[in-house]
Amino acid sequence: MNQREIFYKHIAQTSPAPLALEIKDAKGIYLYDTEGKSYMDLIAGVSVSNLGHSHIKIIQAIQEQADKYTHTNVYGEYILSSQVQLAKKLTSLLPSQLSSVYFVNSGTETTEASIKLAKRYTGRYELIACKNAYHGSTNGSLSLMGNDDFTKAFRPLLPSTKKIRFGNKEDIACITEKTAAVFIEPVQGEAGIRYTKDNSYWKALRKRCNDTGTLLVFDEIQTGMGRTGTLFAFEQMEVAPDILMLAKSLGGGLPLGAFITSHEIMHVLTHHPALGHITTFGGNPLSCATGLASLTTIADEKLYQNVEKKSALFEQYLSGLSAIKSIRRKGFMIALEFEDRDLNFKIIDACLKKGVIVDWFLFCDTAMRIAPPLIITEDEIHHACQIISTSIKENT
Ligand code: PLP
Repeated sequence: MNQREIFYKHIAQTSPAPLALEIKDAKGIYLYDTEGKSYMDLIAGVSVSNLGHSHIKIIQAIQEQADKYTHTNVYGEYILSSQVQLAKKLTSLLPSQLSSVYFVNSGTETTEASIKLAKRYTGRYELIACKNAYHGSTNGSLSLMGNDDFTKAFRPLLPSTKKIRFGNKEDIACITEKTAAVFIEPVQGEAGIRYTKDNSYWKALRKRCNDTGTLLVFDEIQTGMGRTGTLFAFEQMEVAPDILMLAKSLGGGLPLGAFITSHEIMHVLTHHPALGHITTFGGNPLSCATGLASLTTIADEKLYQNVEKKSALFEQYLSGLSAIKSIRRKGFMIALEFEDRDLNFKIIDACLKKGVIVDWFLFCDTAMRIAPPLIITEDEIHHACQIISTSIKENT
């Protein structure tokens, strides 16, 4: 059996149509397959490879850390330099109340742990999330998912979860003294890039949470680490969360998640019971070393600064095409909306054949996802847009 046959036989298949590129190596914004064909990665491994692939600083960090040690003990027992330094760097870039970092392995784990923390801290169990929200795929996270198609086969999920309309001020009234936490994405990713420019919404949400003693949780798993044009999207919203959730690009390409809050809130995980959240691999030294290299590069070189300008180029080069019904974008979270799903999938497929990887959104299959590494150049954007334009023209 060749690799492709083994892939289909022994790697669990959950997608009806996996891309099934056989990857040989990757560098910058390019992936290379085993036949030598190159692909421009315009989705960055779904918002992970913000520095592109095989960045020299990431490779060096892996090599240096691997020379010292990898796993040593379960989370929180030993003092591990890469973990400590990453927490120091992260908290230095956040408002002072976000001072305590708990590292886990993935996005959905940060959601699960934040659900527990909010319940434990407030003594309440009602959770609120948004329609069309995506916070992960495990049981608790699925309970916060705002899409019936993806949840109904797995019910019953967590009781007492409510869904409100994203960006709708009236629905803020659903938050009451019974609500433990509100989970919300600053920009809804899987909904097909939806956000509100109206900061009075975020201020009203913050105020309602303060008034009711509800924790406000920002899911920056997809928006974080520079993707929206600032290091964290909430910097543009003029309000800060009680709990900040990070993952995806946080580890610079290795698995890492984190939930960050105040010492006062995090402290409840230390008693009744002690070890209120446990993970074996969370904050793995290798992932923290690459996370530190990635964060230091993004923050110190201010790689987020040109993101909005470069994102506007996509709109400039593509907006003349009548097949595109609308373009929604926030930094390097871009959605091109087409007439229907079939057309979207045909164009995505045509782009792939021509060596450009784009994607669709879980809850919006009529739109094309563009989310390139932050390091993409203006020339590369021009070239990518030529290929996307040709693919659109050939299919309309
Ligand atoms: N939250 C958001 C906003 C996401 O986009 C994702 C993943 O796409 C998750 C949570 C879950 O992250 P993970 O796939 O690492 O569990």
